[in-house]
Order: sequence, then structure tokens, then C-alpha cells
Amino acid sequence: MLHFRGLRRFTASLAALASVVMGCAAQSETKAAADPQIAAALRQISAQRIQANIEKLVSFGTRSTLSAQDEASIAAGRGIGAAREWIKAEFERYSKDCGGCMEVKTDSFTEEPTERIPKATEITNVYAVLKGTDAANAKRIVLVTGHYDSRNSDTLDVSGDAPGANDDGSGTAVSLECARVLSKMKVPATIIFLTVAGEEQGLNGSRHFAQMVKEKMAKDQGWGLEAVLNNDIVGGDKSAEQDHSVVRVFSEGVPAAATEQDLRRIRGLGGESDSGSRQLARYIADVGRAYDAGVKPVLVFRLDRYLRGGDHYSFNQQGFAAVRFTEFREDFHHQHQNVRVENGVEYGDSLKFVDYEYVARVARLNAATLASLAAAPAPPANVHLLTKDLENDSTLTWESSPGGLAAEYEVLWRATTSAEWEHAQNVGNATRATMKLSKDNVIFAVRAVDQAGHRSLPVVPVPER
Ligand SMILES: [Zn+2]
Repeated sequence: MLHFRGLRRFTASLAALASVVMGCAAQSETKAAADPQIAAALRQISAQRIQANIEKLVSFGTRSTLSAQDEASIAAGRGIGAAREWIKAEFERYSKDCGGCMEVKTDSFTEEPTERIPKATEITNVYAVLKGTDAANAKRIVLVTGHYDSRNSDTLDVSGDAPGANDDGSGTAVSLECARVLSKMKVPATIIFLTVAGEEQGLNGSRHFAQMVKEKMAKDQGWGLEAVLNNDIVGGDKSAEQDHSVVRVFSEGVPAAATEQDLRRIRGLGGESDSGSRQLARYIADVGRAYDAGVKPVLVFRLDRYLRGGDHYSFNQQGFAAVRFTEFREDFHHQHQNVRVENGVEYGDSLKFVDYEYVARVARLNAATLASLAAAPAPPANVHLLTKDLENDSTLTWESSPGGLAAEYEVLWRATTSAEWEHAQNVGNATRATMKLSKDNVIFAVRAVDQAGHRSLPVVPVPER
């Protein structure tokens, strides 16, 4: 440890040279330390508030994307239009409580007929933007989403009851509760709390939103969406075999948006488990160890469950890091079913099957992840691994984390067979480090760290000849 501190001072004094050579004996923790402010915010997350919000969502009878959204149905409180207006009013109320700290917006568009949309239908996403407090970092975005539309046995049923308490009243409630609690915090980067529609008709809302973000980024270079947390079926269905101590986090391996060149590199160097989404999943595992959310993330290294999809995929398709949270064990009698009893079996996505304490724990894990990322520096840019010479040391280079929050950097590595980062080496405020390890034997990454110890997402280097 003494050696380590000495090394830190030594590297700091070399800041001008901005390059270090590292033995691999002295290492920093791979585990993040808890930020007391974030820990305090997590205690504000309330299972009672979540219960009230899911009950309210179910009270709209159906939230089918194809259901009524005219003035009369909104006034009568039935259909997706009424749900949309209530979510908007709820976000606005949270914003009022923090002195107008959030901008509440809608993203409306007309979806032309498809297999699951019989006639042209207006689809509206509702979201609140908590703008980052630091001008140089406010264009960096982290986002949490859930879908507020629901369905019953028939995707095309426009008027029959479709309570959608778990799928996805629970995920919508996570976005709402994260907004209510995190809006009281001040963090340098921007957080978006999103609720989308059209998920059950073919991910229409999230697709439109992800494309919109991509277009905005193309026009305005400073913008970046660093992470998307999709919560879909996080109600902790009260079946006997449920494990309420864990939540699954699904992440894609080979990125949906990989180019031919990316695929060649992934094949050649063993990059199948190093997509941006997978780094985000590992980050969530780290957050789960640093904070006591009451539920532990179980990483599932696959895009989604068999034959199922979700809104995170819309973001993956646009090249963004996005993961899906889902309860450990789903009860398929309680999803996509008309509410009924048949041969003694209860069907339907009803309130009675939802565990509100569990949803609150999942919301805490989400809030801790969002706040940690939004408080952290941007990831380092243009991370490279020098491969021109055949040698057994490994030299990494990178550009400083944009936005000026980074105080120092850490080089991470793990065995090629390991699921998570195993080692972290603080290399000070450098932009180049030589590790006494062969790049052929391990996988490397670099992350930025601020003065308070907030860590960025890690970036795996690309080879440079
Ligand atoms: Zn769903």
C-alpha cells in the first residue's frame, strides 16, 4: 500500500510526461466506493409511491397502444391517452417540487399500419430531462426507460382490460420514481427519464426515440448517449419459485450495430464479450456491490430471453450501450393474458402478483447506476493498444476524458475467460501506460476517475499498428 501511494505521487509528478510504466503488483480496487449523496438518495425511493403509481397505471383499464386517446377517453380515465396525460402530469409535479429542474417533453409520431398496427396510429413517448449542472458535461446523457403500453391475450384488442401491472407498469414506475428522487440531486451529466409506448406492437416508441437521439447526435457532435437502462417486467412476480434477492441484467455480446470491420476485429481478437452494453452490465454489477440496493444484479450474457425482445434493442440497433432489467423468474400466466381463472389457474397481469418492495429495490439499483454514471467523468476517448512491435509488454494510449472531470485514469484487465474485470491499476493523470502484461493473454480497458472516485464506463482499446 505504501508502495502504491508512492507510485501515485510519482505518477502525479510525471503528469507533464503523461506516460507511465506499470509493474502489476500495486493495484487499486476494482470495486467502486459508495458516494454518500447517492446512498442518501436511494433511501428516498419508496415502495408505497411505486405501489400508488402502478395502481394508477392499472386504473386506466387498458394501455394498449391501439386503445382510445381522444379527449373524452382521457376525461373518462380509460385508455392509453389517459395514461399518457397522467405520466406527463406526474413528471411535471416532480419538476415543480425541484423548482422546475426538469423539462417534461413528449415525442409524438404517426406509425403507419403494420402487422400489429391495423391503422395509422399516433404513438407518444413521455420523458423528463434533468439537465446536467456542468456545461461541458450536460450533453452527455444517461437514460432509464420502461414501456407504459400494455396488452392482453390479443395484441389487437383495443378495448378489453389489459392491466399490465408488471409488464410494464413496474418499469414505468421505475422511471417515475428515479425521476422523483434523482431530480433532487445535482450531477454534471444529463439524465433522461423515459416512458415509451408501442413496445407490444413492435418496439415502435423506443425505435423512434433512439433514432431521434442518433439524428440529434449526428447534427450536434457534442451530444452522446452513454447508457440506457431498460426496465421491463421488474415486478418480482410472487410465484413460489421467485428469487426476490436478484434481478437479471441482459446485455448483447456482438453489437447489433457492428460494422464488417468491427466483426473482423471481434472474431480475430476475442471481442465477443466486450460490447458497450456488456461494459454497462459490468458497471451495474459493480454498482450492485458498492450500494445496498436490496437486490443483486445477475448478469446474463445474451441480448434477451428466448424468443423475446425489448426496448433496449432499439437503442442497440443505433449503436448505443443498452441493457434490460427483468425479474429472475417470470410467470407466463401473468403476462400477455386476459384476466381470468381457467382450470383453477389465475391468468392476467394483475396488481396482486406484484411485489412493490422488489420494484423499489430494482429502482434503487437503477438510480444508483444513473447517478454514478452522471456524476462520473466521460469515458476516455480514442483508447488504443499499440501493436506495431512484437513484445510482451502492453502499451495503451488514450485521449483525456472530454469535459474536464477526470483527475486520473485506471487500466483494467481480466483473463480472456473471465466474465468481469479482475484488476485495476491507477496510472495517475496520464494518457499512456505500459503494462508488464502481454496483451495476448488478457483483455484490457481504460476508465476515467474524478477526484471523488466516481468511475466512468471502461473503454476497451482498439489495436493500433
Ligand atoms: Zn414488456
